[in-house]
Amino acid sequence: MKISIAIDGPAAAGKSTVAKKVASILGFIYIDTGAMYRAFTYYVLKKGVDPQNEAASCALIPEVKIELLPGGTVLCNNEDVTRVIRDPLVSANVSYIASYKSIRLHLVALQREMAEKGSVVMDGRDIGTYVLPNAEVKIYQIASVETRAVRRYEENIGNGIKCELKQIEEDLRRRDYIDSHRDFAPLKAAVDSVLIDTSFMTVDEVVNAILSIIKRKTAGDRK
Ligand code: C5P
Repeated sequence: MKISIAIDGPAAAGKSTVAKKVASILGFIYIDTGAMYRAFTYYVLKKGVDPQNEAASCALIPEVKIELLPGGTVLCNNEDVTRVIRDPLVSANVSYIASYKSIRLHLVALQREMAEKGSVVMDGRDIGTYVLPNAEVKIYQIASVETRAVRRYEENIGNGIKCELKQIEEDLRRRDYIDSHRDFAPLKAAVDSVLIDTSFMTVDEVVNAILSIIKRKTAGDRK
């Protein structure tokens, strides 16, 4: 049986950390859709195009090839961009790129193609509402903006990325605003999603909560 798990929520709510763990425990493919919007943004910036210029950014669609390799490597036109897409400059601009309908349609088609190949855990903003509306399990993961900012700060510092806590908090607030107010496929909880507030939970507690939801939902499906 092919199963799709959708994990959505605001920026830095810990979605990718838990999604990776859940996928590895279940032997499912993990798909980080945010990495795809980030890779596109990286390419726009590399080409010297203004990410707030919709027409110029969308004109690059035919020349951008994004691949997610098993193990988490992200390729953009065969260049390994895994690290550079986490750069604060990419984070600051990605929500503009993600608000353009033609770029979304292009990347969503790739995401659906990947989900066709087997059981997946896919994280993003619109997975349960738009990309995989028939996903067997939908999680909407949240945490307070202060908690998310501290987590992202510590993650960046651990990865050798220079940053300031205040700046990160502002970036998260701005991204959440743009992501939830765009016209096409905005960030929002699917009506049939399960809400998990991770503000006071450890990663393992969240992983276990999601595993039991999956167990419950998929057992119900077989009845
Ligand atoms: O998940 P991550 O924070 O890396 O995503 C970066 C950005 O990509 C988000 O702030 C959002 O603008 C965009 N995104 C999106 N839809 C998705 C995944 C990410 O719009 N499914």
